Amino acid sequence: MHDFLLAKEIVGEVLAVAKEKGLSKVEKVSVEIGLIAMAHDGHEEHTEDISVENLQFGISAIVKGTILENTIFEIRKVAGEHWKLVEIEGN
Ligand SMILES: [Zn+2]
Repeated sequence: MHDFLLAKEIVGEVLAVAKEKGLSKVEKVSVEIGLIAMAHDGHEEHTEDISVENLQFGISAIVKGTILENTIFEIRKVAGEHWKLVEIEGN
């Protein structure tokens, strides 16, 4: 569950940053993910380990029809309970 919610959050953030930077094309995005805490479906906030494969799958579905459709998402797992946008390469 968290993988899809996180995918939406990541894509939303990348689109916002791309807009802010005036990018019309994004080649590569680097993201670091830890355990992700969130509340959803009536549950209290809790952490969940996220599978990179599921996250990639969610992202590829969400970016269809956006400027991120052909963007490579490089996802690295790290310790901690957060995710971070490390780098956006585009022009
Ligand atoms: Zn959950």
